[in-house]
Amino acid sequence: MLEVDVEIERDFDLIRNLNQRFSNQPTCTETILKSMRLAQLNARRLHEFSYVVDDMIVCTTTLGQVSEPISQSEESVKGEFSDVEFSLSVPIVALDGHITSMQVRIGGFQAFIRPLPIDTMQMPWLQTGVYAITEKGVQSVLQPLAVEPRAPFQDDNPRWWIEEGRWVEQYCYGSGSCGLVVINIALYLSHRQEVVLVILMFFTLVAGLVGVVIWSAHKRYMQIGRQLKRSLNYRTVDCVYQPIFRLDNGHLEGCEVLCRWRDEGNQQIRPDVFIGEIERNGQTRQLTEIVIKKAIDELMAAGLFGRIRMAVNTFPDDIASGHVDRILTKTLNGRPCQSVTVEVTEQEASNVGEVAENIEQLRSKSIRLAIDDFGTGYSNFQHLEKLNVDYLKIDQSFVRGMETNALRSHLIKSITEMAQILGLQTVAEGVELQAQFDALKSLGVSFSQGYLHAKPMPISDFANYVKQHKISNIG
Ligand code: C2E
Ligand code: CA
Ligand code: CA
Repeated sequence: MLEVDVEIERDFDLIRNLNQRFSNQPTCTETILKSMRLAQLNARRLHEFSYVVDDMIVCTTTLGQVSEPISQSEESVKGEFSDVEFSLSVPIVALDGHITSMQVRIGGFQAFIRPLPIDTMQMPWLQTGVYAITEKGVQSVLQPLAVEPRAPFQDDNPRWWIEEGRWVEQYCYGSGSCGLVVINIALYLSHRQEVVLVILMFFTLVAGLVGVVIWSAHKRYMQIGRQLKRSLNYRTVDCVYQPIFRLDNGHLEGCEVLCRWRDEGNQQIRPDVFIGEIERNGQTRQLTEIVIKKAIDELMAAGLFGRIRMAVNTFPDDIASGHVDRILTKTLNGRPCQSVTVEVTEQEASNVGEVAENIEQLRSKSIRLAIDDFGTGYSNFQHLEKLNVDYLKIDQSFVRGMETNALRSHLIKSITEMAQILGLQTVAEGVELQAQFDALKSLGVSFSQGYLHAKPMPISDFANYVKQHKISNIG
């Protein structure tokens, strides 16, 4: 920009020089006109010089001597210590006043400043142009560009388009003039190598970081997977118990058994982290067997087995293959099993038939069944008719925010009504607030489970917890 200022200053000297030679000449002579044209030839930033007598233009470099002096009434700005007067948007008379431009005046001579001196700003990829829209068509005011403005010209909003590898933005001013900004995309990109390089480096860095995170997570999972193969047993699996309450009388109905696994560093790992590995390792049956056996052992030892309901989580494939039935039969070893509930999530339609068959088998032994996470995944009303179950566990995603979200509470209402028609009871999961509890009760939901009552806890804590609550008669 400094360079630009220097150039304009040099051009101002050309005007000053004209003033020195021709000050106070009453008319425009051929010599004045020739000198103005010579000055224009030498000027870098100024064009369309004119000579003014009594504030009237008497000649311009383009028009020559005008037959009748032209008046001009533009407001100008003059610096306190400068002889240069600036006028912001003066109509260029040589262009029938269609285009306005910034004008400078020193003494009796004035000239227009060319718009942005782009080339000196080392941006060869950028060009600007000014066009007049006249009856004769589109005319370039400055150096013509490879592209021309496009109709409509009256539109005050900028428009842009891409033409022959150039990005063009057009600003028209209703009065018949348009400014064009043209960016040569290929040139721009080649001049922007450094920018592109920095962007590339940034993305490489981000990709690298993401890679490291994914890799370490993957490594951790691989470790978990390998450790699970080595050490998934009665000793490394813990059971925790979360109470479930009846909504009608507030009595404790039973509990859901949730597992935790202790890795080789004796760190307790939550199921969300390792269940996927269990499935990949084909260890589902092993886990279910350990959890069922340990939960029954612990509840028996606490004197709770048979007194309260015990719900265990299972894998659908293990129900379909009959494993769950065999595990329960083996573990219960002839003991009554009407206090046991088996929770299962619905799966793809493919094995619904086998799951349904095995559910019948379990029910014939008075074991109850619950569809877990109802309302998510594959669960749907059509399957429900085929699966003969006792409970629907309404997923916590419906319960969360239900006290303020009309849609969620409406969905819970629909699920509850449908469950009632099918003769099923409903369990709401993830109940955290009293407001949710109250709303669920008024919607006719049968049971409530969640942090509002208690978080899952080890058997000793749970045994104490049960002592402090009224136990429901599970019959
Ligand atoms: P799930 O069967 O839906 O179990 C409920 C999960 O919600 C539990 O997480 C429980 O701790 C959590 N929860 C209970 N109340 C609240 C509450 O008010 N707010 C919130 N935010 N969460 C609550 P957990 O113990 O981490 O178990 C996660 C999932 O892992 C279980 O979801 C279940 O699908 C699976 N899982 C747990 N134990 C076993 C198991 O022994 N066998 C099988 N096959 N799956 C299990
Ligand atoms: Ca469950
Ligand atoms: Ca659930």
